[in-house]
Order: sequence, then structure tokens, then C-alpha cells
Amino acid sequence: MSTTGLINTGLKTTGFYWHERCFWHDQGAIGVFSSPGEFLQPQAASESPESKRRLKNILEVSGLIDELEVVKPPAATQEDLLRFHTPRYLKMLAKDDARGGGNGGDCAPFMPGSWAAAQQSAGLAVAAVEDVALGKVANAYALCRPPGHHAEADQGRGFCLLGNIPVAVMRARALGQVKRVAILDWDVHHGNSQQSAFYADPEVLTVSIHQSGNYPLDTGRFEEQGEGAGKGANLNLPMPPGCGLGAYQYAMETLILPALDAFAPDMIVVACGYDACAKDPLGKMLLNSGAFAEMTAQLKALAERRCSGKLVFVHEGGYSEGYVPLCGHSVIQTLAGSEIAVPDPQNDEIAAWDYQALQPHQQALMDGWRQQWEQNA
Ligand SMILES: [Zn+2]
Repeated sequence: MSTTGLINTGLKTTGFYWHERCFWHDQGAIGVFSSPGEFLQPQAASESPESKRRLKNILEVSGLIDELEVVKPPAATQEDLLRFHTPRYLKMLAKDDARGGGNGGDCAPFMPGSWAAAQQSAGLAVAAVEDVALGKVANAYALCRPPGHHAEADQGRGFCLLGNIPVAVMRARALGQVKRVAILDWDVHHGNSQQSAFYADPEVLTVSIHQSGNYPLDTGRFEEQGEGAGKGANLNLPMPPGCGLGAYQYAMETLILPALDAFAPDMIVVACGYDACAKDPLGKMLLNSGAFAEMTAQLKALAERRCSGKLVFVHEGGYSEGYVPLCGHSVIQTLAGSEIAVPDPQNDEIAAWDYQALQPHQQALMDGWRQQWEQNA
């Protein structure tokens, strides 16, 4: 328990929020990315419980979980969900779940039991945000499933049924637990859930770094910067495929960290997908576990300087069942300031791949965005 992280954060620990029920969410035999058909052999969905369960398991095996405050909170209430979602959509989920399954909207299929899992998943984010806001834990990691960062007010999208982060942040703000919140989404897909939830809200900064035009196809452009009073409080960095360690480092240092810093948040929430890793079947980026640890360390340092270390990680996508656990362990180790590491046999090899360094076309894009963002500030 004598780690630098714990000392820095006033002897409080990192909270770890999980529930077995979340792993029981079942999407049915939808195929790896679309409905099976004449020439697509049925296969488990890309978004499977395995990547998350293996992350939980590696924490057990390494012993890191024994340094965390493990919490199994209740499911989110209807009142909490209704701050973001429409009554029509919630009713539909409950009804279809009871009938034998359904589809939340755009590629969000589910089977019986998923409604309970989704409410539980939102409950993990709710408790993590509340406990960090109230200072019960120093920072937190919520192992949410189903993920939430594509779910919109009136429909599920992209494997997501409920907007875990909007539900948790809206609740904490409604209860006066926190005022200004910055949300960073580094999942390889655009964080349209948070963007849509807070698009007109000047007190919630939403930032998303993602592979341009991967999913959803209709959102995530740099030009989407908020509306009304919220203009200037939404920053999208739609990156070209093939971005590696150098591009993400440059994005963090020149755009993301300065934007978060300038916003002066009371809390930072990370939509933590791992599908920008080099081993992901749905993303085309090149990160390794060391990059996720480094970005976490940068955010932790910023949070400690800006908002008493209040930092909440909410698990989103990531479809490499072998590699997500290694990336997740390095993030949680960094959050907890623990010395318990697990070796990543892929880390150095990925780092040695060609084109990991910042490429001219990547820098040109980001320099252009920075100029425009600073002009509009
Ligand atoms: Zn994703």
C-alpha cells in the first residue's frame, strides 16, 4: 500500500467498480460485426464479455486488485437514467428484454438479461463518479459492460444500450456533487453519446480522439464544436488510420492536455476504450500498453494539479481479447500508483514497428486543428 500514487492522493485508494452481471449481457449470434447470412458463418459478437472478464482476472492473478477498493454498487435507477434517456426508449428496452430480446437501435442487439446488465453497467459509472466526487476514493475505474459511449438519448448504437457516462455525470451535477466536468474519449470510435448529451452545455467539455469516419459515420468531425452556450466545449480529433505512439503523444501534448487544462474542470472522466491498440480487429491504430499507461499518467498529473486528482475511467470498447487485459492492467496500475506490473510481451515489438513516429500528414492535420481551436477560444 505504500505507493507514490497513494501518497500523492492523500492515502486514499483507487476504486474498482465491477459486477458479474455485466458479463452476462448477450447480443445473440449477430456475427463478429454484422448479421450472419449465407456467407457469414455465425460467430460471437466482437463486443464479448471475454476482454473484460480477462481484465478482471489478470488483476486477480497479479494481485493488483488487492490494492484497490473493490466496489459492487447497485444498478442505476430509472430516475438516473431519465436524466439522459427518453421514457419511450427505456420502456422499449424493458419490454423487448422481457419478450426475448431486441435491438436498441443501430447495431445494439440484446437478449433477455441485457436490460438488467445495462442498468448495472450504468450503475458502475454512477457509483464511480459519485465516490470520486465525494472523495471516498482518490480515483476510479469502472469496468462497464455493455459500453455506453455510442448510446444516444432515444436509441442504442454500436453495442451500447445506455449512456453510462452521461447518466453518471448528469446525476452528479444534478446532485451538486460536481460542477465542471471534462470528458476525454480515447476509444478508437467517436464518443457521440457524450457529444450529444452535452453539446449545448458550457460546463461539460467533451473531447474525442478517434479514427476518422470509422463509427459512427455521421459524427466526429472537427467542425462539430458545440452549439449555443456550449459552443467551444466540444473538441473532436478525427485522426487518419495508422496513427501510432508519436501521433497520440503529439495529440495529447498539443491539443488534449491544453484543452483540459484551460477548461479548469472539477473532475476528469475518461471514456477508456482500448480499440486504438495495435491488436484490435475493429480499429486501425497502433498503440501498445505503454502508450495507455503514459496517457493515464499525463491525465493523473493534470488531475492532481487541476482538480485534487479527481479522475474516473469508464471502460468502453476494445476487442482484442488477448491484448485488452494487458492495456487495462497498465492503466489501472498507473491510476493506483502501484508497483505491481505484469510483463507485456508485445509492448516493445509494437513500439518498434515502422511508422510509429509522428508522420508529417498527422502533424499537419493536428497543427491546423490547434490553430483553429486556439483562434476560437
Ligand atoms: Zn470503440
